[in-house]
Amino acid sequence: MLMPKGGQPEEELKALLPTTIAVRFEEMFPHIRTGRIKRRDRKRAEMLRKAEPVLQRVMNPMEAVRFATNGARQLSWWVLTAGSMNPFANRTTLVLTDKRILLIHTDSKQRPRMFASQLPLDRIRATSGRNSYIFIRTGHEQLMFHGVKRSEARQLKGLLESTASKEGGWQNLCPRCFAATDDAPPSCKKCGEEFKSPKKAALRSLFLPGLGDFYLGYHKYGLLQITGITLLWALFLSTLIPATLRRGFEGVAVAAPIFALLALIHIGDALLTRAKARNGLHSKDGALPTGNIGSPDPNL
Ligand SMILES: [Zn+2]
Repeated sequence: MLMPKGGQPEEELKALLPTTIAVRFEEMFPHIRTGRIKRRDRKRAEMLRKAEPVLQRVMNPMEAVRFATNGARQLSWWVLTAGSMNPFANRTTLVLTDKRILLIHTDSKQRPRMFASQLPLDRIRATSGRNSYIFIRTGHEQLMFHGVKRSEARQLKGLLESTASKEGGWQNLCPRCFAATDDAPPSCKKCGEEFKSPKKAALRSLFLPGLGDFYLGYHKYGLLQITGITLLWALFLSTLIPATLRRGFEGVAVAAPIFALLALIHIGDALLTRAKARNGLHSKDGALPTGNIGSPDPNL
């Protein structure tokens, strides 16, 4: 009887990994020695390969990947607003290397999309994992990362060490040259790339919810909101006009609740759009690289 070849699942998984960046295989897939490749492992390897164009440009030659997962980055109060839809617009690949934690905004197919940020490891104050959540605290901020497997939250927590430092925080990365900055400048000091303004985005959404998202480059999400708010305005006008014609000024009271709702949505979306714009540097062409350095983009 022949035993199954020892290295086989391992080799199969390694073949799925990016070729141009270093990955610490045993840390990334701690359970692989038990034999079979799980679907989840395969998906994580593929996810890493999709992030490769960004990782190639960000990581130092000596740097290695230790862990990666894809989930949704969340602000706690988003759940209370229209932003509860944000998990769809807010997919993010989280990558831990031996130098930093990287957050790469992705589309629903895990391809790099709009912006990236990083947290140098010595800036981590505390980490915890609960159910499908990972919490990473730095300075006065807390990152809530949602939608990961319970085992992944545990795995990441085990890999991270906390420091007592209250200094620093997340750094924005220029979507073009990946220079890191502690603040949100109007343009990149290194390559000159201009970034979209959170204030402009907020004002557009105040005028018409969805317009600010559209300006930032979230076209589908923006269009969805514009459609919704247009219907609501139509409802308001079709209630207001007949009621006013029939009952004069008293008719206004009938449509008032709809107007209050509209006002609330306009203001709420302005705040939300500003928060979204501040999540990372949105470049003018609104895109992270998806092609590898020195090789043609397979998606083209
Ligand atoms: Zn730059």
